[in-house]
Amino acid sequence: MDTEIVACPDCDLLQQIPVLNPGDKARCPRCGHVLASAAIDSHHPLDLPLSLTLTAFIVLIIANTTPLMGLSVMGKTASTTIIGGAYEMWINGEPLTAAVVAFSAVIAPGLFILFMLIVLLAARRPPAPHWVGEMLRWAQSMQPWSMLEVMMLGILVALIKIAELATVEPGIAMFAVGALVLLFPAIMVSFNAHEVWMRVEWDHDAAASQSPPQT
Ligand SMILES: [Zn+2]
Repeated sequence: MDTEIVACPDCDLLQQIPVLNPGDKARCPRCGHVLASAAIDSHHPLDLPLSLTLTAFIVLIIANTTPLMGLSVMGKTASTTIIGGAYEMWINGEPLTAAVVAFSAVIAPGLFILFMLIVLLAARRPPAPHWVGEMLRWAQSMQPWSMLEVMMLGILVALIKIAELATVEPGIAMFAVGALVLLFPAIMVSFNAHEVWMRVEWDHDAAASQSPPQT
């Protein structure tokens, strides 16, 4: 695995990564892209992002299945989930807002976590199948669309306004969303995409090194 032939993700130059000492980096000779870096500690480099993503997966389920907030006015109480709130907006003549909320607070973060989870699990044991690279691209395209912190801010502003009219009780989902707002950047910081790219086995590599070409 240490002398595996890899393609530079930036310029596609095929090259061999030498055995690296802890703390070393291997750069592409043509474009200077960092292709590999050896961690100073001996932990599996995908362990931390994997555990953070697993945590985010569980927290996202909690955020979407528990009440976001409860309201009580004159003895009447009501509570809603995130998607329940989006549904209310939809039937109350705000379909565009409802779609934006559903996409940026539920669908995009959900897909991001799902794709990341599959990528991290599939890339744990190299060589990873080539669709892992494709899925990593999907995850990265979903990431800017998950805007939980924007939603969180919107909810807090709304809460302050509603609190004048009704008794508001923040639900479990509110705290779950708060945790996700912290977990998402933590995943991005701990995750090194090159660790995955290095493990992906591309078709031409497979043809060159191990198995005969498949048609
Ligand atoms: Zn390059």
